[in-house]
Amino acid sequence: MSHTVTLQPFGVSFDCAEGETILSAALRNGISLRYGCKHGNCGSCKAQIAEGEVDQAHASEVALMQFERNQGLALLCAAVPEEDIVIELADDYTEEELSSAPPIGDYKARVVAVEALTHDIMRLELKLQQPDFMRFNAGQFVEINVPGTDAWRAFSMANPPSEPDRVVLMIKLLPGGAVSGYLRERARPGDPLNVRGPYGQFSVAPGVAPIIMVAGGSGMAPILSMLNELAEQRTTRPIRFYFGARALRDLFLTEEIAALGRRLPDFRYVPALSAPEPGDRWDGETGLITEVLQRHSGNLRGSEAYLCGPTPMIDAAVEVLKAKGMFSTRIRFDKFVSTAG
Ligand SMILES: Cc1cc2nc3c(=O)[nH]c(=O)nc-3n(C[C@H](O)[C@H](O)[C@H](O)COP(=O)(O)OP(=O)(O)OC[C@H]3O[C@@H](n4cnc5c(N)ncnc54)[C@H](O)[C@@H]3O)c2cc1C
Repeated sequence: MSHTVTLQPFGVSFDCAEGETILSAALRNGISLRYGCKHGNCGSCKAQIAEGEVDQAHASEVALMQFERNQGLALLCAAVPEEDIVIELADDYTEEELSSAPPIGDYKARVVAVEALTHDIMRLELKLQQPDFMRFNAGQFVEINVPGTDAWRAFSMANPPSEPDRVVLMIKLLPGGAVSGYLRERARPGDPLNVRGPYGQFSVAPGVAPIIMVAGGSGMAPILSMLNELAEQRTTRPIRFYFGARALRDLFLTEEIAALGRRLPDFRYVPALSAPEPGDRWDGETGLITEVLQRHSGNLRGSEAYLCGPTPMIDAAVEVLKAKGMFSTRIRFDKFVSTAG
């Protein structure tokens, strides 16, 4: 039996099918609630249930603690209504935001290229076939179906929205990972792949504020999409891009980023190695990327930041940025938490 979900204070309602999460039902109905990982792990979709019971057995104990559950909070990506539900949205939601996301769809795609960017990051290029283009915002992600299974995994677009017929992904190979295994062992040009999306709300806010970008590893992907779009828009905003890698063998696309820099009038790329290997010839920055950010930047009041990569890097970067005067509302991030499950 389906249940009705009502979003207050706007009185917007939609139907949630039996067993469906509130977030899936909202997105299916074209309603853009805030969220991050879609898998109960990051906490971005936390909201107050004002009326009705939900089942959220799949929400992580860390992303939603017991005392929060007792206060009636829920992770909308994991919460399945048991009856009609009323949600009291955060004060800063607007009705316009609820209708702002590009449409989400199911796509059939083919693999065009699979190639190594580093020893453990692969580039996967897909050509969309049916439908043959996807409207998305720089910073958004898609989910791909692991061939031969019913598992789906999230990966951010590295190409800009001006290339709507293809999807370029940068994928970190994980030991025992489902997508990782496919890429290592079986992926070939011509393979069919099911893709769905676009998802996510990580995107560059319009304006003129100076921009700080911080990425680690495959967190490069959405940042590259954003940088390409900013270059296409001929932005004059000052941009500083801090990229953290362990050793020289973990740096990639250095030439491409230098070329982007030539299209941006006030751009600086600051790569840093946290654990250079013996024999690495490197006279650039060393240390954790957050330490480099701490050393390099002055007062950041009035600037804004876009962060992407592992959770500990993002959490540390947020603290550095706030200590340098950046308002937390001007810090946007995408945590690459696990989407297994
Ligand atoms: C919004 C979003 C966007 C993302 N974009 C990207 C992207 O562009 N590129 C990219 O490489 N990854 C990205 N990720 C992370 C990616 O979705 C997961 O890491 C994915 O599950 C890996 O797939 P897999 O099938 O290879 O490994 P899985 O089969 O999912 O996992 C294998 C093992 O690794 C662990 N694991 C999974 N993910 C992580 C992780 N991130 N960190 C540490 N351990 C992990 C699992 O718990 C499991 O033990 C994104 C995640 C989110 C939420």
